[in-house]
Amino acid sequence: MIQTVKGTRDILPADMPLWLRVEAVAREAFRRYGCSEIRTPIFEKTELFARGVGEATDIVHKEMYTFIDKDSDQTSLTLRPENTASVVRAYIQHKMYNDKAQGEVTKLYYIGQMFRRERPQAGRYRQFYQIGVEVLGHDDPAIEAEVIEMLDWMLKELKITDTTLLINSVGDATSRPAYLEKLRAAAAQQLDKFCDDCKHRYETNALRMFDCKNPNCQALIADLPTITDSLDDASAQHFADFKAHLDARGIAYTVNPRMVRGLDYYTRTAFEIIGGSLGAQNTIVGGGRYDGLSETIGGPPAKGFGFAFGLDRMVLSIPPDEAERLRTASAADVFIVYLGEAAREKSFLIARELRSAGLSVALEFEERKMKKAMAQANKFHARYALIIGDNEIATGMYGLKNMTTGEQESLDLESIKSKLLGG
Ligand code: AMP
Repeated sequence: MIQTVKGTRDILPADMPLWLRVEAVAREAFRRYGCSEIRTPIFEKTELFARGVGEATDIVHKEMYTFIDKDSDQTSLTLRPENTASVVRAYIQHKMYNDKAQGEVTKLYYIGQMFRRERPQAGRYRQFYQIGVEVLGHDDPAIEAEVIEMLDWMLKELKITDTTLLINSVGDATSRPAYLEKLRAAAAQQLDKFCDDCKHRYETNALRMFDCKNPNCQALIADLPTITDSLDDASAQHFADFKAHLDARGIAYTVNPRMVRGLDYYTRTAFEIIGGSLGAQNTIVGGGRYDGLSETIGGPPAKGFGFAFGLDRMVLSIPPDEAERLRTASAADVFIVYLGEAAREKSFLIARELRSAGLSVALEFEERKMKKAMAQANKFHARYALIIGDNEIATGMYGLKNMTTGEQESLDLESIKSKLLGG
């Protein structure tokens, strides 16, 4: 039979409460911190990513899903591998920098699918989901600390505590050329020992060599000079201010001078949040500053800072207790147990009434014996079972059983409604 394509997967109903919880927590954070949602197309001109993400990156070099659209003059199009380039394109295209209602910065967020032809493994898929934020229009390091504070809040809300914040500064257009020369000179001395990918990176963008996951290269990389030691004064000051803003917020971090991130557009601050409970694919959040990106894709100068987290990996990071709580919390308020044909008919009407009052009602279409029906109520994790038989219909008093305590009382429909709505 026809199955999902390699690297893609179905998100099944049993897991949806976790996905929805992450989305809800993120949207709540975005509301509190004043970020507005933006939705950009799933595919864009290939050139946007080639220029925006960088020709030398693994993403552009070997992972993009590119196709020619017959309708658009043989233009090469690509399923978005990430969303920052698209959001910055939209910011320029709609001249959002002129939008006075936005104030000094434009804070945008997105939620959606991205596509990369990577080797699939746990936590790494070819279609995956990202939630991200881009703050455009200013380069104050306080913005960076505030964005990380927002992520910190989200992680706490999701009960994810086993994480590490890694930070670095990758310098800017002023400090980078001199550093790259230093780096290339050091790497050249043992270039034959690096893997083929690293040799390619050495030619195209030597900074990318730090991204190599090959253990052999990792050992060689440890001896290469880091950009953090070659920052110009302005970038060094920016990094010091960023750290001071984190300190003031009580946010713990580790400086990792070899973390450069896999995309070309980063300048100055780069960061990652690593999850302790994930395996090899343990980066939950990645982000940084990208002050030159707008110009790279043909726009006016525009400062920018942002992050994306993998929704897939955030869901995987939710601790088992919390995951279990979320799965059962979304259960039905009440499961209706009916006995006999008349009670079945009455159940439909009562279910409709309870549902229109805002309650979640589970009702099955085949009659079961009392014991079996109660087992079903448990299976649905229903908070209450409502018992309807001929006697109940005659008196208008129904049995309401609390499925947690086992207590049962006899109540009329109005009392049942207010009890269930009251919690
Ligand atoms: P990046 O856009 O590469 O900076 O990635 C940002 C975040 O997106 C990562 O930290 C992951 O959580 C997530 N991510 C990136 N690539 C994948 C993938 N192939 N599968 C699942 N999640 C991914």
